[in-house]
Amino acid sequence: MMRQYELVERVQKYKPDANEALLNKAYVYAMQKHGQQKRASGDPYISHPLEVAAILTEMHLDESTIAVALLHDTIEDTTATRAEIDELFGEDIGRLVEGLTKLKRLDLVSKKAKQAENLRKLLLAISDDVRVLLVKLADRLHNMRTLEHMRDDKRARISEETMDIYAPLAGRMGMQDMRDELEDLSFRYLNPEAYETVTKRLAELSARNEGLIAKIEDELRELMVANGLLNATAKGRQKKPYSVFRKMQSKSLSFEQLSDVYGFRLIVDDVPACYRALGIVHTRWRVVPGRFKDYISTPKQNDYRSIHTTIVGPSRQRIELQIRTRRMHDIAEYGIAAHSLYKDGEGGEPGELLSRESNAYSWLRHTIEALAEGDNPEEFLEHTKLELFQDQVFCFTPKGKLIALPRGATPIDFAYAVHTNIGDTTVGAKINGRIMPLVTRLANGDEVEIIRSGVQVPPAAWEEIVVTGKARAAIRRATRMAIRKQYAGLGHRILERTFERAGKAFSREVLKPALHRLGQKDVEDAIASVGRGELSSLDVLKAVYPDFKDERTTIKPAADQGWFNMQSASGMMFRLPGGERTAHDATKAASEIDGPDPLPIRGLSGHMEVHFAPAGAVPGDRIVGIMDEGKGMTIYPIQASALQRFDDQPERWIDVRWDLDAANKQRFSAKIAINALNEPGTLATIAQKIAGLDINIRTMTMGRVAADFSELALEVEVWDLRHLNQLLTQLKDLDCVSTVKRVYD
Ligand code: MN
Repeated sequence: MMRQYELVERVQKYKPDANEALLNKAYVYAMQKHGQQKRASGDPYISHPLEVAAILTEMHLDESTIAVALLHDTIEDTTATRAEIDELFGEDIGRLVEGLTKLKRLDLVSKKAKQAENLRKLLLAISDDVRVLLVKLADRLHNMRTLEHMRDDKRARISEETMDIYAPLAGRMGMQDMRDELEDLSFRYLNPEAYETVTKRLAELSARNEGLIAKIEDELRELMVANGLLNATAKGRQKKPYSVFRKMQSKSLSFEQLSDVYGFRLIVDDVPACYRALGIVHTRWRVVPGRFKDYISTPKQNDYRSIHTTIVGPSRQRIELQIRTRRMHDIAEYGIAAHSLYKDGEGGEPGELLSRESNAYSWLRHTIEALAEGDNPEEFLEHTKLELFQDQVFCFTPKGKLIALPRGATPIDFAYAVHTNIGDTTVGAKINGRIMPLVTRLANGDEVEIIRSGVQVPPAAWEEIVVTGKARAAIRRATRMAIRKQYAGLGHRILERTFERAGKAFSREVLKPALHRLGQKDVEDAIASVGRGELSSLDVLKAVYPDFKDERTTIKPAADQGWFNMQSASGMMFRLPGGERTAHDATKAASEIDGPDPLPIRGLSGHMEVHFAPAGAVPGDRIVGIMDEGKGMTIYPIQASALQRFDDQPERWIDVRWDLDAANKQRFSAKIAINALNEPGTLATIAQKIAGLDINIRTMTMGRVAADFSELALEVEVWDLRHLNQLLTQLKDLDCVSTVKRVYD
């Protein structure tokens, strides 16, 4: 186990003026906080943060990052708090430790391979400081190194996560060694058999080729020196089990067919020396065609630079060769962390790191530029914020699925991102367990639970709230569909009744052959057109039954059931002939002269297809529906004089009745006119009377008609006709009121 003084010595080796007191203080604090806690291996818990810190010293990180490593598990696993750490170590260290605590929460989330990319992004978005990521990777590496002490199922989960998320992340950050080790450790637990086989073969191979690596190293180095590259070093290694396995898999090769299990690196002084070394090697040995890659002139996205070539080289062995400078090597080993090793122009080639094409990891370029501008590597790390994915937020479903959204996204966007059906039926949202408004902007790491209703149609206004195109398109589509559905519903009911009156059965099927006569594309369109009032139900009937004769005859008004049966206010009456009525029909109630029930009309909130005339109508009023082209149906009380306009258009009249939902009582509006004494207190008396009856006043206008009287026009909201009549009677009884009447237009 690493000891405290060893750690301090390691830091001092690369940073002689390191703040030793800070390191000691962090160690003592973590030690006290973790107290008697033990790791699965039985070791004292403090051994873990110590080892994590030690891994980071290999990257030569500054002492505050090392201190963060020592403290990284304190907030999550002990009584330590952010406030306490802030106080003892400063806000900067406190913020980093808290960042690691947030990342730890992610470990609890279940991960699917297809989400790995998103999780990596989330990791980057949450750790807004590159040091958080470096500590996190070191933490994971140490956990993987000690994974054997874990339970089987935990091992599998952690290994999978490492393979999917942390190893690629290390790779993208350019930390090749870290990546290799993470992959090998995961491979060992994820596929023990393959791991065993490959490892055994590699061991056999190195036993058989004992001394070969050293021999080739010597040969390469001597050749370089002989050609004037005096500082060149050559280093060989056998490849790691996982990279061998991956190669076998991707190329469908057996172990025996795999020719290049050895890799060699030539490290030289500068870029020109790299190309010179390449020339020397290619002159001396035969090149394997198609294996040459120049990542110096075209670096990889993660800033990796090297020349790759494969030769049939020393000892007739086929070997893979990487040629690079010392600085390129450090970057390949430590990735972004390597930038802490260099100041601009020091130990590297002038301008070497500055000319980059933009790539997905442009932040890397950005940080390199920042490095070139500043002269203090620590300051550089301190101020490096990860700018990557700043335009995105990452949120979770309650089951732990990760949803990536653009910044500014709302729970509605989230719902639509999960599934269109979920978006369409959203009525509310819980964010991190609390009910929040649907306009809330989501933040990274939020857990969002969508509250749904069975039949909700998304309000059209949501279109203005959402930021994702998917949500916007879906809302538009759903609104359009809902409107069409409402019109189609009304159209269907109207058609059923018209057909029934004519003694014909209505179905979607009978409509089909008549579509072309009606100029309609499909049945649904035709039915919706009837509902919108663009097509009369009678025209549809005639199109389906061309022989049908439209006879207008007079009928008696139906018995007063609170609904109106085919009689207009002007007294014009008509009916559709009964056609072939059955005996059964004929024996129906005498009051039901004309066949089917009128269309039931409920409270109309939220409906597009049915409206009330401006003067309103209240339950108990006898009402009639008039179809308005493009608007659907308008309900009038039969007393409305406006109805006269439709006298010569009988096809627009629809027989309707009230159908109240007792469970959902609604108010309906009506207009009244009051002629009142023009004296102080009149208005108050009237308003009081109205309020006393539990009636709402929606609008009120006052006009003086004579010196002593004022005319008041009121729009009131009542439950029904009885309620309204009660009001009229009581107002009439007031001393200050001369006349009261209902207004129908
Ligand atoms: Mn840890």
